[in-house]
Amino acid sequence: MGHIFSVHETFQATIQGEGALAGTVVDFIRLHGCPVGCWFCDTGYSSADRYGRDIPRLTYTVEQLLAELQSPRVVISGGEPLIHPHLPKLVEAIEASDRQVSIETSGAKWQTLSASTWITLSPKTHINPHLPTQPEWWQRANEIKLVISTGEELAFYSPYLQTTTCPIFLQPEWAERERTLPLTMTLLQANPNYRLSTQLHKLIGVP
Ligand code: SF4
Repeated sequence: MGHIFSVHETFQATIQGEGALAGTVVDFIRLHGCPVGCWFCDTGYSSADRYGRDIPRLTYTVEQLLAELQSPRVVISGGEPLIHPHLPKLVEAIEASDRQVSIETSGAKWQTLSASTWITLSPKTHINPHLPTQPEWWQRANEIKLVISTGEELAFYSPYLQTTTCPIFLQPEWAERERTLPLTMTLLQANPNYRLSTQLHKLIGVP
């Protein structure tokens, strides 16, 4: 029997707005649910309602998700995609259709995914220490994206950032960008090996 996924929404042929792959044409599969509860969550799973009870929850089979795909790259985000136990099966099926898969995760759960899956790790241990980033992700990640809200994020993750060789992006918290963009610029000047991640999709007004 096929695996069933609880999905918030899907959309096709948009652009990846964040990180190293920003500007590439992608399809998005946004899986439902996240227990982390960041106050700045822009996907509906903020601390006010951690499980997104008011967010539409659609049911898809793997075959239905595959049938919608249009682009050579597919981003699986959420919510937190790693809370879905059959995620590796979905990744496997998409990769078998000759597409590249990216996963955007807080790393609060560990699952083994294929080596070709691009992992964007955006740790949230500083927000919810009860659901810390699992240590394996720091080495598995293809890029790290720190959402800059207070500026203290760099010091908090410093022991991990020093051990990773992948690109590190600093992304100003969008809702507070008048404050967080200058703060992020200051952090980048002090850490010139890190890079700015804007949310390009929001700047150009696509989903
Ligand atoms: Fe939202 Fe991501 Fe935080 Fe979950 S980890 S609450 S999806 S920002």
